Amino acid sequence: MINIVLFGPPGSGKGTQAKILAEKYGFQHVSTGDLLRSEVGNETPLGLEAKTYMDKGDLVPDVVVIGMIGNLLDDKAGKVKGFIFDGFPRTVAQAEALDKLLTEKSYQINKVMSLHVDDDELVRRLVERGKVSGRSDDNEEAIRNRLVVYGDNTAPVADYYADQLKLSDVVGVGSIDDINAVLCEHVNGVVGS
Ligand code: AMP
Repeated sequence: MINIVLFGPPGSGKGTQAKILAEKYGFQHVSTGDLLRSEVGNETPLGLEAKTYMDKGDLVPDVVVIGMIGNLLDDKAGKVKGFIFDGFPRTVAQAEALDKLLTEKSYQINKVMSLHVDDDELVRRLVERGKVSGRSDDNEEAIRNRLVVYGDNTAPVADYYADQLKLSDVVGVGSIDDINAVLCEHVNGVVGS
């Protein structure tokens, strides 16, 4: 089982690219944002707790997100060809927990691809998306906070994977197809095709 992390700030195209890669390689796309939005939509206790953080653009507590991923791995690990994680891990504690959960099952993260897009372009994309997404966190105030949270809490996760020699930097500006082609080169390097 191959495990890939698609890393990058909000608006860098992780969701779009993760969907394409999941389809192409037959991997399961795991977006913690989507999983949390589904809990919010179903008004579960977890969703009601998560919503207060999400609306402001803050991170949902590690224990909640790690628990969700732990359940998913218990359910699916070994039964799918691979996972492509999108929006997770977002803190070093989450990255450490993911390593531990995978190691317990004799798996590992094979590759982390980090999409790079400058802040002005990210804000522009997220404001545009907000006009159609209906997402309560695609407003300018929450967007600005999400970028600050990314810099403070999430960016260090790149160093965590760089230290493990698993990180590849990818330019996230250009056509979806061109960016996808670069990502596929990296994925091919770990699936051996
Ligand atoms: P996303 O769809 O990935 O942009 O995530 C939307 C929101 O869900 C984030 O701003 C956080 O509030 C929450 N969220 C998603 N993934 C995580 C995570 N791995 N850790 C903490 N909060 C998360």
